[in-house]
Amino acid sequence: MGQETLSNLLRETRRFAPPADLAEHANVTAAAYAEAEANPEAFWAAQADRLAWTKPWDTVLDWSNPPFAKWFVGGELNVAYNCVDRHVEAGRGDKVAYHWEGEPGDSRTLTYADLQREVSKAANALLELGVAKGDRVAIYMPMIPELPIAMLACARIGAAHSVVFGGFSAEALRARIDDAQAKLVITADGGYRRGKPSALKPTVDEAVAQTPSVENVLVVRRTGEDVAAGDRDVWWHDLVDRQSEQHVPEGHDAEHPLYILYTSGTTGKPKGILHTTGGYLTQAAWTHHAVFDLKPETDVYWCSADIGWVTGHSYIVYGPLANGATSVMYEGTPDTPHRGRWWEVIEKYKVTIFYTAPTAIRTCMKWGDDIPAGFDLSSLRVLGSVGEPINPEAYVWYRHHIGKDLCPVVDTWWQTETGAMMISPLPGVTDAKPGAAMRPLPGIDADVVDEHGNPVPDGGGGYLVVKRPWPSMLRTIWGDDQRYIDTYWSRFDGMYFAGDGAKKDDDGDFWLLGRVDDVMLVSGHNISTTEVESALVSHPKVAEAAVVGATDPVTGQAIVAFVIPRGGAAGVEGEDFAAELRGHVAKALGPIAKPRQIMVVPELPKTRSGKIMRRLLRDVAENRSLGDVTTLTDSSVMDLIADKLPAAK
Ligand code: ATP
Ligand code: MG
Repeated sequence: MGQETLSNLLRETRRFAPPADLAEHANVTAAAYAEAEANPEAFWAAQADRLAWTKPWDTVLDWSNPPFAKWFVGGELNVAYNCVDRHVEAGRGDKVAYHWEGEPGDSRTLTYADLQREVSKAANALLELGVAKGDRVAIYMPMIPELPIAMLACARIGAAHSVVFGGFSAEALRARIDDAQAKLVITADGGYRRGKPSALKPTVDEAVAQTPSVENVLVVRRTGEDVAAGDRDVWWHDLVDRQSEQHVPEGHDAEHPLYILYTSGTTGKPKGILHTTGGYLTQAAWTHHAVFDLKPETDVYWCSADIGWVTGHSYIVYGPLANGATSVMYEGTPDTPHRGRWWEVIEKYKVTIFYTAPTAIRTCMKWGDDIPAGFDLSSLRVLGSVGEPINPEAYVWYRHHIGKDLCPVVDTWWQTETGAMMISPLPGVTDAKPGAAMRPLPGIDADVVDEHGNPVPDGGGGYLVVKRPWPSMLRTIWGDDQRYIDTYWSRFDGMYFAGDGAKKDDDGDFWLLGRVDDVMLVSGHNISTTEVESALVSHPKVAEAAVVGATDPVTGQAIVAFVIPRGGAAGVEGEDFAAELRGHVAKALGPIAKPRQIMVVPELPKTRSGKIMRRLLRDVAENRSLGDVTTLTDSSVMDLIADKLPAAK
């Protein structure tokens, strides 16, 4: 960002109060804010008490060596025991943990008792392979039940897992295996995507040819396709199936490594984020309980993310299982075999809480309103969003077409680094505003500051920071403490800087404005890409938009917009449409935000977790060769876009 603070252009006045019934029975009430503020450590200690500890902690927080935090010092617990065994011991063994739905239409049901047996067998199998407490295990799998089982087996024996997206290349996998020095890789022959088997094992074979740390590769049979058998390969069904169903979990230190997860790479080289045991599980479980108002006896919860992303770690595996929830887990893509597949799954399992990403919502808008209208979605009661700022128009569409104007929408801001939700409405408390993540959760001290680290007044914009350690914070970047300090703790003294821009509205509520790296400097004004994109998406013919600042001789930077029209919209080609959109943005935000150039494109470059990679669009707009594309879903998208942009040819 330049010297001035971020301009605050968008005015949004819609408000949605919590449903009275939900508010009346909410898990968490407004009192939690004051309680947490009075004594944050006591507040988090009370949330940690929701878990079972084998040894109590001596100190809630040790911050004597910042920025290296220790939470629940001296305490011991087993994450797998907390997620599985304790529910069985409490007589809830028959309760469903996962309704799993395969893409081809096959399904499996796993109760907590099933999960206990499977996780124990897998833990015994890992031990037989020589994996020990403190080792690292790389996991490269499709969205099948063996994936959470493998993660929990690692957690049970105290080996840290490193889950790598099933869509990543051999080189991306190799780099992550090497960085963590993983001893074992757990994979599958493949999974189903877009109606056909998608192989994984050949990618693993290629990766492990160059990773000396790997001793074995454990392979689940999912698709039944032929795989090459290497010396180190072991079939899951040969090894795991014959193991004992008994495994006694031991307590691990609260600060014992639980997992490493690499960030999505939107802003550059991925970072290996380290999460540990006690604080992580405390915040993942509490936020899942509070922000979704989860009632484990009656709710059916579904998070549509991939487990290879942090959202899947915290809100498909650890948070929901720690709370004894019944979840849906789905293997495939939302448009296979038809574009109503998600809504069909919600109808089938009577899902009550649904958590997805803005990119998915905008895709559904693009496909058309009639698709969700064909399914019974009346079981839903709470909707969530994560991953990018949600454009107000997408929020209202989600609330109306999926939530039938009855379900609160919680827009949850957090990161791989934060481990769990940080800023979000509470569904029974907050009067929500479309596009706003609203307020830091109880126990979280986040603020928006100017370039000197001073809080901006209400109505101002700047940098989002966290001022106090939180239980599920990253502990370091794996193997690189200095990079941890430099990346997160050196921009502002004593504060964690997340990399995101934000503003406070006149009520002091928070609006996320995207990465500060993406902020555009136009004629001396800092303009957020998010606000211009949201203005474009509020045009009835636009489903998705990505905006970047390109060097301009007159204005410093000029706004270049890439837009995808809504399904069925007519008159979306040519100069007239571009002029119409420019006028629309000028009216919503002011003439300063008017794009210089508008390109209608068929697709946008996105990471596997669904985020728009603006840095690549900036490369195109400024006619440069493309930066790191290894975490892109589909790199051919960039060719489609370059074809549309005369300057880039
Ligand atoms: P990298 O750091 O490698 O570029 P990444 O930041 O995309 O990867 P994640 O940790 O998955 O990887 O994403 C966190 C980021 O996602 C946040 O910093 C923020 O920019 C964005 N984000 C997540 N949720 C929200 C939300 N509700 N509103 C606005 N932005 C969000
Ligand atoms: Mg990031």
